[in-house]
Amino acid sequence: METPAELAAATLKIDLAALAANWRMIANKVMPAECGATIKADGYGCGAARVADALWQTGCRTFFVALPIEGRQVRDVLPDAVIYILDGLFSGQSDFYIAHDLRPCLISPEQVKEWAKASDGKHKSAVHVDTGINRLGLDATQAETLSSDAELVKRTGACLLMSHLASGDDETNPANKRQKEEFARLSTLFPALPASLANSPGVFLGSDFAHNVVRPGVALYGGNPLANKPNPMQHVVSLHAPVLQVREVGEGHGVGYGATWQADRPSRIAVAGVGYADGLHRSMSWPAAKDGPAMVWVADQPAPIVGRVSMDMITIDVTDVAPEKMSPGTMLELLGSNIGVDDWAGWAGTIPYEILTSLGRRYAKVYSS
Ligand SMILES: *Cc1c(COP(=O)(O)O)cnc(C)c1O
Repeated sequence: METPAELAAATLKIDLAALAANWRMIANKVMPAECGATIKADGYGCGAARVADALWQTGCRTFFVALPIEGRQVRDVLPDAVIYILDGLFSGQSDFYIAHDLRPCLISPEQVKEWAKASDGKHKSAVHVDTGINRLGLDATQAETLSSDAELVKRTGACLLMSHLASGDDETNPANKRQKEEFARLSTLFPALPASLANSPGVFLGSDFAHNVVRPGVALYGGNPLANKPNPMQHVVSLHAPVLQVREVGEGHGVGYGATWQADRPSRIAVAGVGYADGLHRSMSWPAAKDGPAMVWVADQPAPIVGRVSMDMITIDVTDVAPEKMSPGTMLELLGSNIGVDDWAGWAGTIPYEILTSLGRRYAKVYSS
């Protein structure tokens, strides 16, 4: 059931126009390569069905998800899309893939064999080769063996050769060039197959990483694809919560579980109904957060989250906000034009991917386009 805004502690807004703009920016950048979209994990927490629909309307035709069940959810809204399953072929589930026209990214000789038998060349797939991340995919020897059996390749219905970068977000890392060269070498074994290597960071490594199809994920949702540079993407996610209560706290008194933060002056504390169950990680507590205290934005100024983040609540030091601007119902910006998922990631000591995918389920969710 959707949570109505008046019954939710916070409202999560997904800006589908910004999502579309981010996709278009990458699509233009990688032309003439095709720009797909990675929408696994419920579209990085933004809602796979709405994201899929918005991107389809923007011109995206190829989608990547992790699981067959995610592929089916996308199929339900996009009858004509190309959908790849990154986690591969789940054993014994070929019928499910075929029924919903899902293309497995085959990662082992066993999967190749199983899919070739089920598909017999009539249903498509990708061949996933490992070029150095040592996660999923055929190793070089297995790829060579497969390529020497043209009949088997044909029966897999393979129509894409893919691999994945380990260190794309670090453009200075020589591993990127090594992986690109290894991918080029393995590509010559399958000269008929279009190739795909780049995720979001890979898109920004240069046009020689684009190949035929790119698979951006996090950048579409506004996460910074570049580790140490300004974020070129538009904000997609914003989060606003009303203040539940404001209280005076005397000097020397603690706030929240464990009283980990103590007022060093007479202070005013605002409480909002968002906590770690909503993806505001407990590691954003102060003192403890990385990169200084986590901030919320209120009355055109930042205010720090102080004390422990609890399951359903945060406490914010609003002593420096004019008292008349701060009362129950006052709206706080937790994510928006002033605060991005990258900021949360910095405070929490994680990456925007984890912030987006842990945003939680009890917000009122609003889409704008
Ligand atoms: C998740 C994933 C992507 C998308 O990665 P981003 O860094 O979010 O752009 C692309 N390819 C594979 C294989 C993935 O697992």
